[in-house]
Amino acid sequence: MPTYVYRPKLAPGEERACDVCSGTFETSQHMTDEALTKCPKCGGAIERVLTPPAVTGTKRYKKHSAKDMERAGFLQYKKVGKGYYEKQFGTQGPRTLGSGG
Ligand SMILES: [Zn+2]
Repeated sequence: MPTYVYRPKLAPGEERACDVCSGTFETSQHMTDEALTKCPKCGGAIERVLTPPAVTGTKRYKKHSAKDMERAGFLQYKKVGKGYYEKQFGTQGPRTLGSGG
């Protein structure tokens, strides 16, 4: 059974002493049940709070193109042999790295 969150629907200036609806509360209901509109204890007006679905997964970052990387000052070397790397882009650093060549 899903749990729903309710909060008091207070008229301007209204306060509740009821320990159920004086703040937000949770209650389990069948999905087919209608949303409560009244506090089960004192009959005061309440409303269901729509709770957002749980946020899952990781934030996706925009993939940078090689051009963006180069503009930002990054270097990229590509392995072209055993322990030997050739610069793909970038203005700094040696053209090649490693013992090969
Ligand atoms: Zn109440």
